[in-house]
Amino acid sequence: MAEKKARVIAFTNWKGGVGKTTTCVNLSAFLAEAGLRVLIVDLDPQGNASLGLGVTPRKHKTIYNLLCEDCEISEVVQLTAMKGLEIIPADVDLAGAEEELVRMPGRERILKNIIDKIAHNYDYVCIDCPPSLGLLPVNALTAADALIIPIQCEFYAMEGIAQLMYTIKLIKKHLNPNLSIDGVLLTMENRGNLTEQVAAEILKYFGKIVFKTRIPRNIRLAEAPSHGKPINLYDRRCSGAVAYLSLAKELLQRYKSLK
Ligand code: ATP
Ligand code: MG
Repeated sequence: MAEKKARVIAFTNWKGGVGKTTTCVNLSAFLAEAGLRVLIVDLDPQGNASLGLGVTPRKHKTIYNLLCEDCEISEVVQLTAMKGLEIIPADVDLAGAEEELVRMPGRERILKNIIDKIAHNYDYVCIDCPPSLGLLPVNALTAADALIIPIQCEFYAMEGIAQLMYTIKLIKKHLNPNLSIDGVLLTMENRGNLTEQVAAEILKYFGKIVFKTRIPRNIRLAEAPSHGKPINLYDRRCSGAVAYLSLAKELLQRYKSLK
């Protein structure tokens, strides 16, 4: 029997501040809480996922060492406060990786080669992408089986989406034909007319891959990272935690129905 391999999900949107990291960290935490083995790969030089999970920068080897130097994966993977949730951290060093990767043979597949070596140890590998174009996100899209696209419920929500879809098309054509979109998530929702208008526009564009679960704007989600904890360990009763739990259930249900 073929060895069971993790589903590799990249959280992506070229736009900054739309909830990629918040979704990657908290969805991963609820998947781990459900008994699944989850690895987050922080692929953003801002290192927000690492900081948000209490991994102190500058103390550990990071994804940069794995991508650009010779280094054992076991030296880089860190445990978190959440049982079952591990992370390969990032820090500002990663900003230099783009330039170094350009010179490497097979430069688009370096991350894929790393993840392929450890995917059998996990049920999910969740990649937190930076808000940019370039070789790092191209590596993420090449390594991933699927994408989750968080979109902030605001007036310019769809800005950049056409460009993202075009990039996905190119990646599928040249590097990763099986790449799919596992879901589109509305984040930072406020009650009101504008949200409904934006939601309707997103639904019209993406159809049924839009998750029924929406993430409300909730200050507790913004506070949790400064305590180095995912939301289920920080305040599991807040509306943000309830929403991310619901998202984890919806995603698992989606996978079950596909089997
Ligand atoms: P970047 O593109 O810079 O990596 P991002 O897409 O990863 O950003 P986040 O860092 O998750 O976005 O979120 C941006 C900011 O909004 C953060 O300060 C985060 O704490 C806050 N935030 C995210 N989701 C919510 C929410 N549902 N309610 C309130 N604040 C939120
Ligand atoms: Mg981020």
